[in-house]
Amino acid sequence: LAKKQGKHRWVNYLDGMEDTLQRQSKLAQHLFQALNQDEFSLHYQPIFNVESRQVCSLEALLRWKSPVLGWVPTDECIRVAEEIGVIIEIEKWVISTAIRDLKEFRCLFDSDVTIAINVSTKYFANPDFVGFVSQALNENGFDSSAINIELTEGALLFDLNRNDNAASKIVEQGMSISIDDFGTGYSSLAYLYRIPATHVKIDRSFTERVEDDATMVSSIQHLIESLKFEAVVEGVESLSQSKLLAQMGIKLQQGFGLGLPKPLAFYLDQANREGLPGLNL
Ligand code: C2E
Ligand code: MG
Ligand code: MG
Ligand code: MG
Repeated sequence: LAKKQGKHRWVNYLDGMEDTLQRQSKLAQHLFQALNQDEFSLHYQPIFNVESRQVCSLEALLRWKSPVLGWVPTDECIRVAEEIGVIIEIEKWVISTAIRDLKEFRCLFDSDVTIAINVSTKYFANPDFVGFVSQALNENGFDSSAINIELTEGALLFDLNRNDNAASKIVEQGMSISIDDFGTGYSSLAYLYRIPATHVKIDRSFTERVEDDATMVSSIQHLIESLKFEAVVEGVESLSQSKLLAQMGIKLQQGFGLGLPKPLAFYLDQANREGLPGLNL
């Protein structure tokens, strides 16, 4: 019986693997065309200062709707784009589009809101990256402080070990850098003080549990602040979480409970009908 079950499990496993491979190759096949065929768009999720109740930044999040596959989850799209080597082209499009849209957001909010852009290790490590971003900023009349680059711990650690370190160049030029999904990587704490970041985004897995385990979040917060980074929390879904985090002194907050990722058109439309989109809570 055990032998039979074992064989069955093996077959299931192979079936699962085949499904995954089929999905991957389907995605790859359609992803090559997606940029030319205008299938990408951006959603923008606000990062609030909950003390002043102002939007201080908008994070650009890639969206892909394929005419054949429908909406493809962003994590999956990015993973395949990295594998097949189209990630840099896609990220250039994201950077250009987001910086162009920032003009509209600055008018809309009548303040110096910034744009936050997620960048993969692959592009960040590319020598052209800093130049491309600076040029896009220049062409649109923004200075470097208009942009925040979000990178994972892994990407920053990798960069730290290279001679021609991109992160310090970015920060020297006046751009800011956020360490994204902080607390989920495998890297050791020993490197953290050497990373020239400005902000650290505490991963939503900690936010989720803040009401059961505030100590965990406040320990991470103290670590971040003692290294002179600014703490941001991701994944705030409820008023009670937001309040607790604000009481702890974390005023930069982001999450579905505060504001959903939405296209620029949504912000423009809402501003016309009901006034500026503000804090949900
Ligand atoms: P991220 O940068 O950590 O972005 C946060 C993700 O969590 C987004 O998912 C967002 O929609 C979601 N989220 C925000 N608030 C909440 C919340 O309160 N609860 C829950 N459950 N989720 C929340 P999304 O848009 O699917 O993006 C997934 C990841 O894909 C991003 O994680 C980012 O790492 C990556 N990504 C998105 N756009 C780009 C891009 O243009 N370039 C690169 N390289 N990566 C991107
Ligand atoms: Mg991010
Ligand atoms: Mg994140
Ligand atoms: Mg993430």
